[in-house]
Amino acid sequence: PATSMEELVSLCKRRGFIFQGSEIYGGLQGFYDYGPLGVELKNNIKAAWWRSNVYERDDMEGLDASIIMHRQVLRHSGHEATFSDPMIDNRKNNKRYRLDHLVKDQKADVISKVAEAIGQSAENFPAVVAALNANPAQASQALKEAGVRDPFSGEVGDWTEPKPFNMMFKTTIGPVADDESYGYLRPETAQGIFTNFKNVVDSTSRRLPFGIAQIGKAFRNEITPRNFIFRVRELEQMEIEFFCTPGTDEEWHEHWLEKRLSWWEAQGVPRSKIEILDVPKEDLAHYSKRTYDLMYDYPTLGHEEIEGIANRSDYDLGSHTKNQSELGLVASVEENLDSIAKLTIPHPETNKPVVPFVIEPSAGVDRAMLAVLSEAFTKETLENGNERIVLKLKPHLAPIKVAVIPLARNKAELVDLARSIKSDLQKLGLGRILLEDSGNIGKAYRRHDEVGTPYCVTVDFDTVGKGEDASLTDTVTVRDRDTLAQERVKISELTAYLQAKLK
Ligand code: ATP
Repeated sequence: PATSMEELVSLCKRRGFIFQGSEIYGGLQGFYDYGPLGVELKNNIKAAWWRSNVYERDDMEGLDASIIMHRQVLRHSGHEATFSDPMIDNRKNNKRYRLDHLVKDQKADVISKVAEAIGQSAENFPAVVAALNANPAQASQALKEAGVRDPFSGEVGDWTEPKPFNMMFKTTIGPVADDESYGYLRPETAQGIFTNFKNVVDSTSRRLPFGIAQIGKAFRNEITPRNFIFRVRELEQMEIEFFCTPGTDEEWHEHWLEKRLSWWEAQGVPRSKIEILDVPKEDLAHYSKRTYDLMYDYPTLGHEEIEGIANRSDYDLGSHTKNQSELGLVASVEENLDSIAKLTIPHPETNKPVVPFVIEPSAGVDRAMLAVLSEAFTKETLENGNERIVLKLKPHLAPIKVAVIPLARNKAELVDLARSIKSDLQKLGLGRILLEDSGNIGKAYRRHDEVGTPYCVTVDFDTVGKGEDASLTDTVTVRDRDTLAQERVKISELTAYLQAKLK
């Protein structure tokens, strides 16, 4: 695995996985563009998730809802009121920071002093942050007393009181910019699932338990985007809302925890690198009955959330439904006089309308990509003493499945045959097959090791009967990325050979 974020960032840029957004104008912080190989890897991760969660199950439907949503959706979901992070300003240089990031990044002794000043133990960092949030005046004082430094200037700051900063992107809809004509870019894909609950139930005749899966972009105006693609302002999520009968929710929660861990394992992210955080009651979001955060051990960053698996009780459908008071909701919800739909489904036993409970496994595609790249990243010293970097990606995730390489680029005979082999392999539907006719076989192998291409197929003079060994006519060399073994395979058997290997 990678030992630092730096080596990943460097590989991603060098080989065309990820670029800074709007780079030629100086870049835009918190936005990244996925390059020729990045788009393939990203698509492969999403396809693997969809296959496992939609196609391989019998209790799931898919959805692709719109990104811009009615303001009422984000109002009744609770986002307008609560989707915020604590922000604090340094009066000395007018820089703004996210309070918890600011404190977390201080030296240990400073953190201890902050904790002490706010009456908490530094051991329990979330409690320190909660106390700072709850007492803004004291928080400002505590940071000053502890000598909290500005990460930008390095000097002790003059800190304001923290205040909540709402992270939603608001946008005008239509040609008139009045008080009513705005919507939000969704901050999570989940809300599109809740607002389509009735549509999906009515059109598919689903009964409990069942889920709706969605992959798509979400937008969060993070105060301090950082750590490469770990914390961005435009992100992508893979989310499931799994609807079940109240009372069966805890069992389903465990089911999904298990399922998700085994999915990560199949993508090359082992359980041993993921800590399961059973989020303490006092740190739970107001809608959550219980949440497991999967904390992956990222290089340089340490354990940080890659996926959250929350038991959201009947909060979401209960918040978006009409006739709330008749439905015996468990969650405490704000009154909703705007919704025109009753979001219930027959109870499987009594047939009476019930608002189901929801289990939500929510994973970030960008954070998945970072973890997958990090696990695959390998530095090896070869027998001849040379070092090689190789991405040991699972074949189903590799951006390029096979590179077909003519040994010499100016020999039409080799190039034409390589092109026709490429075309045959492409028809198998395995993913991208690349004709690599840069002419330098050593460089081509190095490049394909670094981008994780599982197999390179080389067409040489023996292949076309112009080498020294006539028995090699109509065979090609297949090179294995991980073992470096090279095998001669008959062209007539090549598709079956690679199909079996890449299954
Ligand atoms: P954090 O505490 O790290 O800000 P969160 O608890 O706000 O994350 P959730 O709201 O649970 O995150 O979102 C679900 C998933 O979406 C996260 O597990 C993560 O993979 C992804 N995600 C959330 N925010 C971002 C972001 N700014 N950049 C990239 N991925 C994100």
